This record gives sequence, C-alpha cells and structure tokens, in this order.
Amino acid sequence: MGIRPEELRELERMFPGRVTAEAVERRLYSHDVGAMPRLIRPLLGKALADGVVQPRSEEEVVRLVRWAAERRIPLTPRAKATSGYGGVIPAQGGIVADLSRLRGVVAIDEAAQTVTVQPSTVWQELEGELGKRGLALRLYPSSAPSSTVAGWLAQGGVGYGSFEHGPFRDSVASARVLLPTGEVRAFQGEDLDLVSEAEGITGIILEVTLRVRPAQEEALWAAQFPTAADLAAALQEITARELPLWSVSFINPRMAALKNQLPPKIEHGHPVEEHRPRLPEAYLALFVAPASRRAEVEPKLLAAIAAHKGSPLSEELARHEWEARFEIMHVKRLGPSLVPAEVVVPLDGLAATLEEIDRTVHQPFVAEGMLCRAGAGYEATLLGFIPHDERKFTYNLAFGLSLSVLKAAKAHGGRAYSTGLYFKGEAGQVLGRARLERLAAFKAQADPQGVMNPGKVLGGSPLASFMGLAQAFEPLVRAVANPAGSPVGERPEGAGRRGVPDEVAWYAYACAQCGACVDECDQYYGRVWESSAPRGKWFFLREFMEGRARMTQEWVDRFLACTTCEMCNVKCPLELPIEHAWGQMRGRLIHEEGRMTFPPFEVMRAALKKERNIWASYARDRAAWVPEDLKGKIRERAEIGYFAGCTASFVERDVAQGTARLLSAAGVEFTTMGTDEACCGIPMLVAGRWDAWADTVRHNIAGMKARGVKTVVTSCPACWLSWHTYYPEWARKLGIEFDIQARHYTEVIAERVREGGFRFPNAVPMKVTWHDSCHMGRAGGIYEPPRQVLSAIPGLTLVEMEHNREGAHCCGSVLTLVENPDTAKAIGDVRVKEAEATGADAVVASCPCCEVQLRVTADKIGSKLPVIDLGHLTSQALGVEMPDPTPGTLEAWSTFEAMIWLLKPEAMAGLFEELFPPMFAAMPGAMRGMMKVAKRVPGMLSLMKPMMPMMMPILVPMLMPKVMPDMLAAVGRRVPMPPHMREQMPELLPAAMESLMPNMLPLITPLVVPKMIAYIREKL
Ligand SMILES: Cc1cc2nc3c(=O)[nH]c(=O)nc-3n(C[C@H](O)[C@H](O)[C@H](O)COP(=O)(O)OP(=O)(O)OC[C@H]3O[C@@H](n4cnc5c(N)ncnc54)[C@H](O)[C@@H]3O)c2cc1C
Ligand code: SF4
Ligand code: SF4
Repeated sequence: MGIRPEELRELERMFPGRVTAEAVERRLYSHDVGAMPRLIRPLLGKALADGVVQPRSEEEVVRLVRWAAERRIPLTPRAKATSGYGGVIPAQGGIVADLSRLRGVVAIDEAAQTVTVQPSTVWQELEGELGKRGLALRLYPSSAPSSTVAGWLAQGGVGYGSFEHGPFRDSVASARVLLPTGEVRAFQGEDLDLVSEAEGITGIILEVTLRVRPAQEEALWAAQFPTAADLAAALQEITARELPLWSVSFINPRMAALKNQLPPKIEHGHPVEEHRPRLPEAYLALFVAPASRRAEVEPKLLAAIAAHKGSPLSEELARHEWEARFEIMHVKRLGPSLVPAEVVVPLDGLAATLEEIDRTVHQPFVAEGMLCRAGAGYEATLLGFIPHDERKFTYNLAFGLSLSVLKAAKAHGGRAYSTGLYFKGEAGQVLGRARLERLAAFKAQADPQGVMNPGKVLGGSPLASFMGLAQAFEPLVRAVANPAGSPVGERPEGAGRRGVPDEVAWYAYACAQCGACVDECDQYYGRVWESSAPRGKWFFLREFMEGRARMTQEWVDRFLACTTCEMCNVKCPLELPIEHAWGQMRGRLIHEEGRMTFPPFEVMRAALKKERNIWASYARDRAAWVPEDLKGKIRERAEIGYFAGCTASFVERDVAQGTARLLSAAGVEFTTMGTDEACCGIPMLVAGRWDAWADTVRHNIAGMKARGVKTVVTSCPACWLSWHTYYPEWARKLGIEFDIQARHYTEVIAERVREGGFRFPNAVPMKVTWHDSCHMGRAGGIYEPPRQVLSAIPGLTLVEMEHNREGAHCCGSVLTLVENPDTAKAIGDVRVKEAEATGADAVVASCPCCEVQLRVTADKIGSKLPVIDLGHLTSQALGVEMPDPTPGTLEAWSTFEAMIWLLKPEAMAGLFEELFPPMFAAMPGAMRGMMKVAKRVPGMLSLMKPMMPMMMPILVPMLMPKVMPDMLAAVGRRVPMPPHMREQMPELLPAAMESLMPNMLPLITPLVVPKMIAYIREKL
C-alpha cells in the first residue's frame, strides 16, 4: 500500500533532514550483503522501503516506533546491513529505521568487566575504546570493522573468541529493548532468547551490556592438515584435552588456493607490490590464545597437530592470516559474486560434512570455519561460498548448491546457520522448537499488529515454501546446478553496460557490500546517506547497469563530489581501487558523455585557458610571490625545479615563500617556471575536464624540460600527486617523453636534516599538530618527512591527532568545497575539532588547499585554532617573520564561495529573472509581440508553458551575447570580486556560460518558466 504523502511529511517534521523517500536511496536501504538470484527475487514480493528514517536518540526511536505502531506501518530495524539472510530487507515495505547514528560507549565498568553500549556501536571501534582501559572484547565477528553490537545480538552468530566464550548471546549481560507497545524492557538470562537471533521482530535493541576481558597480546599458531578427517581429529583432540585456546578457525584447501590466486592491490591503475606469503593448499587452521597461556597451550597443541598428520606453519604465516582475519570476502575479487552456503555442524560431524560437500558439490566450495563452544561440546560454523557471477543465468542454478551444502550438514547432525527472511522454514532447527514457540508467543503478545520487522523468522512465505520445496528436490537441483559453474578469476573486460567502464563494472559486482568503507568516507559522514558512500555508489552502479536506475545529474554530482581522500581504498578488505574507479566514472560522464561538471569548474577552466591559473588572476603576476631575499637566488636552469602551484602563487603566498626559502637555506639550487608556470591541472582532472587537463600537462612538462629540470619539487601535495603519478601516466597517453621525478619538499629537507647538512638556527616554542594531506599521505605514503622537518625545529613539540598518517581524516576540500561549502564545513568541522582536541597551539599543514579549507571551516565554526603552513613555520625558524595569510585567504575564498552559490540552479534561475527586461528587449520583435498577444488571450499563457522548455535552448544562446553586459553587472552585484577578476569577467563568464548552458538549462528551465510566465503576465 505504501505510506501516504502526508505521513511522509509528518515524519519529515519529526526528523528534519533525516527522512528520505528518494527512489534510489530507498533501494539502497532495502538490501543486505546477499545477492538473490534473479529468478528467485520475485518471490520476495515488493521488499522495498517506502521511506528511510534516521533517528539519532533513544527518544526519537521511541517516537518512531509509536508513530509506526499507531498507523500499523511496518518498521524494519537496520544497523550496518552486513548480514545476509534478509533481516534488514523491508519484506512488507514501510519504514526502514536506520539506527546507525545510535553508537558509542555508554559506560565501562572495569571492576565488573562489562561495557554498556548504544546499539549501533561498531565492534572495531568498541575494541579501540576498551583497549584504552586495558580491556578487550571476548569475541567479535569477522565483520568487526563495520558490523554492530545490536546487529550481532539480533542476528546471532559466532566469531573470533567463540571457542572460549561461545555464541555472542552468552557474553551479553543484558539488553534494553523497546517493544512495539512502546514499553522499554531489560532482557537478561533466559529472556535473551526473545531478543537474540530474533532479527528485531520483538523490538528495537536500545542498549546492550556485554562482558569483556582483560586485554592481552595474542599468541598465534597455524598448522596445515592433508584431509578434513585429520583436521577434525586434531580439533577433537584439542577440545577433549581442554586446551585453553581463545579462538580456533580454519579454511579449506579451495579457500587457500583462491587466496593464492588473488590479484595484487591496484593503486592509481597500477599493481602494488606487497608481500603475501603463499599458502599451502591444504586445510589450514589458526589457533589463538592470550599470550599468558602460551606455555600451557603450546606443547599440547603441537602434539595434537602432530598426532593427526598436521604440520605447524611459520609464525609469519600465522600472523599474516590473523591480520587478514577481517578479509574473509577477499576472494570475491575473483567471482565477482559468491553463492553463500553457511551451516553449523557438531564437531564430530565436521569431517563427514566436508567430505560429503566435496563429493556432491562440483563447483569450488570455499569455506572458513569457526569453532564454537556449545553446551558441553563444540560446533563448527562453516561460512561457505561458491564463487560465481550473478549476471549470468547459471547463477540462478548454482544457487541451488547452497541446499546441497545444507543437506550435507543436516545428514551429519547440522543445521542452517540462520533464519532471517530466506530460511524461515529452518527456524525450528536453528533456534530449537521450544525456543521458537516461546518467541512466537511473545511476538503475538508484544506485537499483535505485526509492525516490527514483519516477514522474518516466524511464519511462512512464498520464498520459504520455495526453499522447502527445493530442498525436497535437492538431488535434482544439484544435477542441474553442478554443471552451471562460472570460471574463477579477474576478468575486467566486457563487463560494462550503459557506458560504465568494464573495469568499474566488474568491481561494482565484486563489492561485497560489507560496509567497511562507509563510516570513514568523508562523503558519508558529511552527508550521512548511503548514496554518498562507496558501498552505495557500487550498488547504484549495479542498479544503473541493470536498467533499474537513471544516471541523473544528482548521481553525476555524487561521483564528482568525492574528495579523492582514498580512505576507502585503505579500508576496503577486497582492496578495490574505489577512488580510482570514481575518477574513471568522471572521465566517462563528463569528458566522454559531455555531462555537467560542477559549474564553478567551468569558470576555473576559462581562467586556466586564459591566464593558466584557477584563481582568475593574471599570469603576469604569478611570480610575484618571490620575496626580496630570494631574488637572484632562483636559477634560470637547474636540475631541480620548484613548482609553486596556483594557490601558493596567488592566495597563500607564504607557502611558496616559506618553501623556496627553506630549499635555499638548505643549499638546494633550483629554478622555477616563473610567470610561465601553469596550474598543475588537477582541478580539471578531477572535474572530468580532461581537455583542459591535457593542455596543462603538456605546457608544464615542456616548461620544466626547457629549464633542464630532472626533479620537480612541490609544496602542494596535489601538485606532487600530479607530477609524481598522473603526469607520467598522461605523458604516455599523450605521447610525450617524460623522465622527470617528483618529490615533496619535506622529503628533500628531511634528507638534508638526516644527513646533518642542515639545521634550523632559531627556536619556535610551540605545540603543534600535523595534518596529513590525503594527496601526499594515503596517495603517496609521505608521512614521516614532514614530521621529521617539524621535529628538527628547536623548541617545537609535535602532538598527533587521533586519526593520523594512513588513518588521517580528510579536510573536506576541493571537490566537496566546490560542490557545497556547507558539506565541506561539516567534514572540516571533524578535522578542526580533532586538531583542537590535541591541545595544540596550531594545526600545521603543507597543502594550500587544506589550509584554505581548514581556515574557512575554523572561521565558520568559530574555532580560534590557527592554521599554519609548514613553510611559514620553518621561515620563522630561519628568522623570517611573515604576515598571517588568514585574512587574505578568507577574502579570496568569499569570492569563490559566492560564485559557487550563484552557479546553483536555484540562484541561476533568480539571476535569469533579474535579466528578463533586457532579455525580452533583445528578443526579435515578432516574438515579443507574440508574447504580448499571448498574455491577452485567456488560457494562452498556460498553453505556452509546456512549449517554454523547448524554446529555452534556442532562446538562451541567441540572447546570451546581447544580455551579457547586464549579466556581468548582475553577477558583479552578487559576487564580491577583486579588480583583476572583475576585469577578466567579460571574457571568463561568456566562456563558462557557453560550456555550462547545454547541461544547466534543463535544470533551471523548470524554475525559470513559472517566473517567465509571471513576468509576461504582469510586466510585459
Ligand atoms: C565480511 C563479513 C564477515 C562476517 N563475519 C561474520 C562472523 O564472523 N560471524 C557472524 O555471526 N556473522 C558474520 N557476518 C554477518 C554479519 O556481519 C553479522 O550478522 C552482523 O552481526 C550483522 O550486524 P549489522 O550491524 O550489520 O546488522 P544488520 O545486518 O544491520 O542487522 C542484522 C539483523 O539485526 C536487526 N537489527 C539491527 N539492529 C537492531 C536493533 N538495534 N534492534 C533490533 N534489531 C536490530 C536487523 O533488523 C537484522 O534483522 C559477516 C558478514 C560480512 C559481510
Ligand atoms: S576517496 Fe574519500 S571521499 Fe571519495 S569515496 Fe573514498 S573515502 Fe569517500
Ligand atoms: S567497497 Fe569494499 S569496503 Fe566498501 S562495501 Fe564494497 S567491499 Fe566492502
């Protein structure tokens, strides 16, 4: 039935800015990690949210539940959607309650060794918090980087630590739950049966108190076994001897083989060399215990391994596998899809189950197993997958093999792993009959209307019936499914559809939807909707390629807005080259398909073409940054060329001055391109304006070569990235010979300091914190040189922010700042506050763009924290004081920001409205006359209205040159401009408008037409 528009408006009033009913966003919040075969999908029914709401406090959850219960609107709780049994799928539509904002530690009781947390607290984050108090989690799932505490309690499951501590439920002291009646009740002991593995059908978990343990180093051992029987026998001996291990897990030979086959990590389109030990293709077990138990464990463990034909593996391999414990889905890179097959078997049925799977399933069955204490004995949970390709018809068939795995498990005393939406028919075995009946009775009493997560765990459904039927015909299904394999390997060719590059398309399907990239993506924490995070973008691309979504300008903007911080590349356990993929999408969408980039980039492009810089300054002023004390020291030709870049040349000149002075003081002889230097071009690269980018690449390479430069040294990390990574790649594409190295100046100076060739003469008694810029940090691995330079300044103390080096948060600059300064402020706010929290006197950076963004953010949020350039600071240490560039930066930025807001469709519509008098005056007389007649004939204007959108693309280019003087004046009234920019506007604005209008007109026409009709009616 769906929810009504007035109900949606009610929700928007209750949760301002945190409700969406946008079509694609609803799809993004209506799925989990599972990939249902196309033929089975219709059995799910609609399974699409009517809206998504993000409550951010317990009170708000209470209001939402009451609201839904009163209206009998289904409510589906969703944490991070890393489960795969359909628990978060809104089976009957209604509202998805995205609970991910309810996270954080409520209290830690060190004496009782318990911690109380909000429901959506992420495991890895919690482990970090506990570590600060010398505590650690008793157990966690391998999805710990992204999954949540309440999600695991509601879903149920085992993880690392389950060998000692059993399933998660056994470590829960209590859970506070909001029932659909509106009552909040604490559940503990036996009553946790009504919450654990209930998938949220009995209520929303608001708080969980869990038992924790003292933190300790881990002792690790790994061993290989030739057969499943040997592995199982060793495990039985280990459990029989009651070895005090904490975790026992294993992989099968297929998994080891596929891990060996994994492609290398790709950075900026190139494979990265990393050491990956080759795994023996056997059953590999990993044993973990607190280090204090090493002496007790080791001899017995090694004896048990040896007694069952096992052989111990190196500590290096054990450590490597342990460090890769969160990368269980890495093999999906080879699929790109996986058919899931997860079962639980008693330990004494493990060997027989694995053997039967080997006998009956003739496609690669890859599995990780975890041992879990269960009552008096142990169970093995097999998290199994069959690599496949969900785009192929045969995926529908191969899916049947998960039933063969289930049958094998059942034949040896096992069961399905979970229930959810897909395996409701198995609920009696998964939960046990008595427990299921108790749950059903409680549900009937607490939620008689069936509002809370309907369609899960209890009752029947077409899908559950189908699954039951398919199990009955398992041998038949298997006969069809076994030959329906898909070759396993990396095959990026031929996968793209609807213009999506092949490689990007492959990764879109390879993405496991595990969510590890979500929280730390600045686009996500700046906007807080999945569509902005990599996971959402990959999912959208699949929807787009399958024809279920359109590539609207909003989506083009989302691919553009990514800050290129590369945090996702670091976080993704599949090592997908995410940021690079968005770069490829920009090229495809903007450069090849001619869609609209962010409008301010068109003004920058015009300025770049005219004066070789993006700040609309004059090229002749480019070298004006050179201070008196350096004049005469900069060579005409040298092997080292200092490349200052636009912002350091025109806005924050202290960056260029400080850097050049430092190089000179350290005895580095260098040249510059002087007034001939052009912008490095990176704004055009990331804007998808590859024509302008290619021109600037050619110009700068030629300029440096002409000066005999062999190494370009930069202060701006984006310039460094251009010269170091992008110029060589593009020089190849453009057929230019390129043999220039690139270094950041901190690398050069740190080297001189290290070699003893340079010392700072003056002390700077300050406490500072260092902001790692993404473009030299994650993109270049330059973390230590700037720290070494800072540490060489006498009297200076360096303190680190919580997120530093590879984990450093982005400042939120360029693309996001150009798209929406408010979002950039939200992202910058996180970084400025983190810097403030260190208690430093200032935050130091070397990126002029980060400095602009941090200064602007600090100004907007009222922070007094000074932002200082490293070159500026080192000048101080060299005895040269420079003026604070902050006021000038803020002034320059105010022009830019006013231009950004002006170029938004709504503001452009307002601008057009102001231009109606000269526009109508410039129209051919006959046309104006026709409009005057139209206003007098009743109904004529309404008839004209639908024709206007067709007329606008003809009218606007025709009238634009004539109204340009008025447009320039109107822009001048809205944007405060320095004289050099005002002087150039008559050239820049028409050029920008010419590029923009074809794409912008369709966006502004619906806004302009009603204003135009009103103008004709009232003023013409
Ligand atoms: C890479 C990877 C590794 C994994 N490893 C493991 C593993 O080792 N062990 C394991 O057991 N599972 C594992 N899983 C599955 C999954 O991560 C777990 O089930 C996890 O606990 C789900 O947590 P979540 O926060 O994503 O919850 P979600 O998937 O969002 O939700 C799970 C269920 O809980 C309900 N729910 C969520 N929050 C609440 C709430 N506050 N109140 C009531 N109901 C709620 C939802 O409606 C849904 O039914 C893995 C998954 C992936 C992708
Ligand atoms: S590069 Fe940064 S902003 Fe872009 S998707 Fe990755 S994490 Fe998000
Ligand atoms: S991009 Fe990587 S981290 Fe993000 S959801 Fe996909 S697989 Fe997980």
